[in-house]
Amino acid sequence: MLEIIRIPVLSDNYVWLVHEPQSRETMVVDPAVAEPVLAEAEKRGWKITQIWNTHWHPDHTGGNAAIKEATGCHITGPEAEKARIPTLDTMVKEGDRVRLGDVVADVIDVPAHTAGHIAFHIADEEVVFVGDTLFAMGCGRLFEGTAAQMYDNMQKLSKLPGDTKVYCAHEYTQANGEYALVAEPDNQELKTRMDAVLAARAKGEATVPTTIALEAATNPFMRANSVEQLAERRTAKDNF
Ligand code: ZN
Ligand code: FE
Repeated sequence: MLEIIRIPVLSDNYVWLVHEPQSRETMVVDPAVAEPVLAEAEKRGWKITQIWNTHWHPDHTGGNAAIKEATGCHITGPEAEKARIPTLDTMVKEGDRVRLGDVVADVIDVPAHTAGHIAFHIADEEVVFVGDTLFAMGCGRLFEGTAAQMYDNMQKLSKLPGDTKVYCAHEYTQANGEYALVAEPDNQELKTRMDAVLAARAKGEATVPTTIALEAATNPFMRANSVEQLAERRTAKDNF
């Protein structure tokens, strides 16, 4: 059973520190920075052996070099973005598998936020690391891809088991929920969820991870019934 620790960094990023107790391997998903990640691992007596990157953006890879320098860890990330992540050791794409000790992740291609964005799905643990593709009640901005690609990504991710815990890389939930209520004003589950989110945020609590089932019920991008509707909603959210 993996231990997954949330490390809040920068203004709203979450770095995930993942420990596999059998092998004692420890992996970092998308280290925006190095210091708080190294400190958290040290505090727990864990030695970081790997980094997994979902995409090239600096708030996901900025800590790569310093963590590698400090630990000698191995870095895995998207093949399609190797030119933009010079610290990569292993390049992966959909169909590839990545190991953390006894645990195996399947790589899923989810291009749109960036051209080579990937997600890591660990079926046995019911966990998926989605970077900036799927957020609680939101999706990533379309910096290097199209609404059609993001629609496909939402379809793909929605087919994972409902109990799958979704680890995204930002605390954007409240702002996403405010737009979601405009997109789907009659969605009762969404209203209930937003009440819980507002209460959690008022206490300074995190709202991530979420689950595939919760997103299927309340996320206006995962729930978009066509590419056109997703495109419309993405544009509306960008200008919200
Ligand atoms: Zn990003
Ligand atoms: Fe980001």
